[in-house]
Amino acid sequence: MSRIVYVNGEFLPEEEAKVSIFDRGFLMADGVYEVTSVLDGKLVDYDGHLTRLERSLAELDMPEPDGMDALLEIHRELVSRNNLKEGCVYLQITRGPADRDFLYPETPKPTLVLFTLAMTLRRSPKAEKGLRVISIDDLRWGRRDIKTVQLLYPSMGKMMAKHAGADDAWMVENGHVTEGTSNNAYIVTQDGTIVTRQLSHDILHGITRAAVLRFAREAQIKVEERPFTLDEAKAASEAFITSATTFVTGVVEIDGVQLGDGTPGPVSRRLREIYLEEAAKQAV
Ligand code: PLP
Repeated sequence: MSRIVYVNGEFLPEEEAKVSIFDRGFLMADGVYEVTSVLDGKLVDYDGHLTRLERSLAELDMPEPDGMDALLEIHRELVSRNNLKEGCVYLQITRGPADRDFLYPETPKPTLVLFTLAMTLRRSPKAEKGLRVISIDDLRWGRRDIKTVQLLYPSMGKMMAKHAGADDAWMVENGHVTEGTSNNAYIVTQDGTIVTRQLSHDILHGITRAAVLRFAREAQIKVEERPFTLDEAKAASEAFITSATTFVTGVVEIDGVQLGDGTPGPVSRRLREIYLEEAAKQAV
């Protein structure tokens, strides 16, 4: 049975789903997206993803597509039609088809696409082993807080990591780590403080980040939101990343330098546990 996807008002087998070659998402990367994880057939942190999606649209002056008021139902219908228990729902909105022009079309007809991806999230082997990351220059544009589909540089970063025999890359700008190619980056100092870059245009405002920092503070773990250097990271007692599909995952090596005993550290393991428990409880 083929996967059922959603395109502009219709649920269709993926082979039948079509978007115009003139779509500005295709021609200009003029689009935004969200990834919402699914645990036990339920959506994790749905409201957070919806709020960020609305913000991304507003920042780009992109109108809301038809179907926006039924997004939760569309997500649920897709999860149900594909019998998805664990994985994610990918959603993309573009400014839609228009004659190729740098200027936005005057009467845009935005495209709305959603599809599911089955994935093993809870018992991920990567989370059990921990990640090895390399550092690369952050060569992305200056509005990384908007979740756009311009993912070529993060894609190149993941390829650089793969060629170096690592799992992912952390990006560095002016000597400080911004974030991972598809996740937020954290270190835990030798005195047990979590350090992660503060929110600004420099990084994506992770929905998982917001939840994890709240849980950390509730667990009386000290949190500092500030930039940190690569040297600080290499001298840290542990490090980790967060994102919708990796939750909290330990980083065990940075540029070949092992952290701690080379396995995910206690703070990241504890936060992963708390996050998983709370995420499952609050999923809709
Ligand atoms: N930073 C970047 C660059 C990302 O692409 C992502 C997720 O795709 C994140 C951070 C984590 O965001 P979230 O926790 O909302 O998935």
